[in-house]
Amino acid sequence: VNANADDLAIAIDLGGTQIRAALIDRQGVIHIRCAEPTRATAGPETVIGQIAALAAKAREGFDAKRIIGAGVSSPGPIDTMRGVALAIPTLMGFNDFPLRARLEGRLGMTVALENDGISAALGEWRHGAGKGISNLVYVTVSTGIGGGVILGNRVLRGRQGMAGHVGHMSFMQDGETCACGNRGCFEAYASATAFTRRAIMRAAADPATRLGKTSEPIDAAAVFEAARQGDGLAKALVQEEAQYLGQGFASLLHLFNPDVLIMGGGLSNQFDDLQGDIVASLQSSAMPAFRNTPIRRAALGENSGLHGAASLIFEGA
Ligand SMILES: [Zn+2]
Repeated sequence: VNANADDLAIAIDLGGTQIRAALIDRQGVIHIRCAEPTRATAGPETVIGQIAALAAKAREGFDAKRIIGAGVSSPGPIDTMRGVALAIPTLMGFNDFPLRARLEGRLGMTVALENDGISAALGEWRHGAGKGISNLVYVTVSTGIGGGVILGNRVLRGRQGMAGHVGHMSFMQDGETCACGNRGCFEAYASATAFTRRAIMRAAADPATRLGKTSEPIDAAAVFEAARQGDGLAKALVQEEAQYLGQGFASLLHLFNPDVLIMGGGLSNQFDDLQGDIVASLQSSAMPAFRNTPIRRAALGENSGLHGAASLIFEGA
């Protein structure tokens, strides 16, 4: 590869609710960033059209010769070895769909495809909270739970490029039903969706809490705010959430023995309020030798996936 300091990559972060596009250079500087809501039920042709339009917008006014490829982060499961979307739950019609080939045809350039958890892990590793670290586990806690693993300075991909679906560690035969169809998954207990569901259920049965007693809807941010104001139920809910996260994180420490575990996703906005109880939970669920592993908040916010997608082009990852 002829690395040129002027090189640029188009980065696409395809999500169930938003498609983000950016033009990023080798140093990780974002030159242009744009986004629009995903037409998730309109089928692959429409979504690919949206991606092409955003990519065109991102590269507008830049010398085409500087743009050496497009990295695309997509919800899984995607077989990145073959470039095929197997069955994306949040996007209609992406079943056994040849996503990479179709994007290359449409964008007219090399396309590198990555599962979103791995892409965000790559972004944090190259430019964020995991910079310079050889072994890390990245966990995104949002609507669902996803992740990616870097071990010995290499990305863990597995047979089909689908390693790191950490939300679907299942530990309860008759547990909560998960979006994946299984029961008792980590995601079914510790995702923001599960947290909010618990909050709504318990608030209805608790006359003392202020949650649900105003016109304000019960969402994750509202529960954390109420906890900060001293609301008893909200405090218990936050502590319980941290307990679940700590339990899942402990399993990941046992499996991968990382230098650091990085938490990203929407719920990481509340990291300061969760950290203490996550660490306390780790103290009881991790084996003693693993307990001092630092748990850190992701540094790139909504841009982790975009940075990871661009790094696929620059680093070949
Ligand atoms: Zn699951």
